[in-house]
Amino acid sequence: MTDRKTVHTRYVIRELIRRAARYRAALNFAIAASALVALTGFATLAMLKPIVEVVFDQPRGAGNGMLDFLLAPVYQTIEYFVRWNRLGTLAVVCVLFFLISALRCLFRFTQVYVTQWIGNRVILDLQRDLYDKITGYNAAYYARRPIGGLLSYFTADIRLIGVNIFNSFSQLLLDPFQIVVLVIGLLLIHWPLTLIYALVIPLLIFTVRYFARKNRRASREAQDVVARIGAFLQDHFRLIRVVQAYGMQDAQRSVFHRETEDNFLALLRKARAVAMSSPINELIGVAAVCVILLLGGWVIFVQQSMPASDFVVFLGGLVSLYQPLRRIERTIQEMQHGFAAAERVFEAMEENAELPEPAAPVKLAGLRDAIEFDGVSFSYDGERPVLAGVSFTARRGEQVALVGPSGAGKTTLVNLIPRFYDPTSGAIRFDGVDLREMSLTGLRSLIAFVPQDQAVFAGSIWNNITCGQSDVDEDRVAEAARAAYAHEFIMDLPHGYQTVIGDEEGGALSGGQCQRVAIARAFFRDAPVLILDEATSALDSESERRIKASLEKLLRGRTAFIIAHRLSTILQADRILVMDEGRVVDSGRHLELLQRCALYQRLYRLQFEDQASAAAPS
Ligand code: ATP
Repeated sequence: MTDRKTVHTRYVIRELIRRAARYRAALNFAIAASALVALTGFATLAMLKPIVEVVFDQPRGAGNGMLDFLLAPVYQTIEYFVRWNRLGTLAVVCVLFFLISALRCLFRFTQVYVTQWIGNRVILDLQRDLYDKITGYNAAYYARRPIGGLLSYFTADIRLIGVNIFNSFSQLLLDPFQIVVLVIGLLLIHWPLTLIYALVIPLLIFTVRYFARKNRRASREAQDVVARIGAFLQDHFRLIRVVQAYGMQDAQRSVFHRETEDNFLALLRKARAVAMSSPINELIGVAAVCVILLLGGWVIFVQQSMPASDFVVFLGGLVSLYQPLRRIERTIQEMQHGFAAAERVFEAMEENAELPEPAAPVKLAGLRDAIEFDGVSFSYDGERPVLAGVSFTARRGEQVALVGPSGAGKTTLVNLIPRFYDPTSGAIRFDGVDLREMSLTGLRSLIAFVPQDQAVFAGSIWNNITCGQSDVDEDRVAEAARAAYAHEFIMDLPHGYQTVIGDEEGGALSGGQCQRVAIARAFFRDAPVLILDEATSALDSESERRIKASLEKLLRGRTAFIIAHRLSTILQADRILVMDEGRVVDSGRHLELLQRCALYQRLYRLQFEDQASAAAPS
């Protein structure tokens, strides 16, 4: 039902660049600032030349044309103010050095701030896009994924993208400029020596790529394990009472130990790649500098084609070049962790799991006539049928109760009405309009849904009832809560409707109170169609009585599909569908079915007779 796509690093990089390019003006600004940082960096380096000349009493301003050109204003200033007085020259150079460095710091501040701004914007967009995309996926997507795994996209993965990719972003943008400026400077000072040094660059690139690949693979494994651990813990804590009651601690602990061990091993593989890459690259770099030192000595002493002051600047350039070269390597290593996380996030965003929406949706204002199931079949996996040829019509205002043994397909059937899934064949129609011809929001605005349990969100009671709708009339909310017999207990809470469920002050609601909030939500929605999965959990008789009364009110005048667990529901239902193995085997009112349907008689005896005898006066 979904088409899972594997994304590769190249795709991830392209996609991240595309997202950063949305902020073109800021990006251009950051690029310009990076170029200025690199240029001012080289300018401070060039200041070594007059220092060496004056300190070692060398010929002044002789040698390479490029450095002379760059330093011409410096030489003029020295000539004008201090006429090569030794201390005076040093003082002039220091002042100029300080001024250029101050400019460089300003550019660097701008560069870091703007790149961080872009990075954080991209992360913000990514979080929102991921949320929008995943929330639109169909029920099949959610059925296959543990909640903890979904959460880890938003927590661990997004954090890793932020920390490992965008924290390095300013450095990554700056270092290529520094490398280019330094390489051009070095070439202009002494191109043969520069070319010899350049021979190590392919070697560096090769080792960087080799270790980066190893690192990325290990990171991806580690993140997959982290997602599995998240999913495991989510389940573990949700079901902690079951775990404790059934003494499952040891079994759970061994699963947890196994997963954390896998995580540890993946992190070790990553650590190995990181730990090996730096020393190897350092050795290559040091060997190259040694070769250049020897050759440089030969050029100065034997060939005498370069003044020593130029060679000092050249060596300073080589050392400075080594820093960004190595840093790029480290940054690339660090980014692998972020890329692995981004791979997971983009894979989640590329899942093709949305229900198709019509180009020109039909809009229905309400339900006038009937809901029709016409030969509806459904399968989750495309093989095993879960519903087979279900046909019936529910007239407007009718209450349809679904009964059947566990696994008969009752939940699946009601899930097709709000299009959590689409039928594999056949059609469901509202007033003759196939659900697939309506927009999902249009269809769902006609339906209120009261699930069995777990139906309140962490958040205020107000938001729970209004579903976050803004500009809501206070009286309407209170009226809905009154109808659900919830107003009284809500007013007794510390902050009334604004009490936050689940926080320390508001505390937790009882099972019956949660159900009443869910019923209040359905009243508030005031939709013509109601889907109700009756709670099976036993409540105390007072709570039960209130819920029963409020549901009766809620059902009045609405077309309702009820997965029935209460005797009163089947007694009042206009029609009961008896389901077995995905088929509707009989339908009718309670007494008719009790007389003619063997399965119904059996179900009645198992599920409902107890309630009948409990309700009978003793
Ligand atoms: P119960 O009364 O126990 O809730 P039910 O009548 O509501 O059962 P369904 O939940 O609709 O039955 O399940 C019908 C069949 O479909 C079952 O065999 C179940 O195993 C299968 N099924 C349910 N949900 C899924 C799913 N997400 N993926 C695959 N199979 C599923």
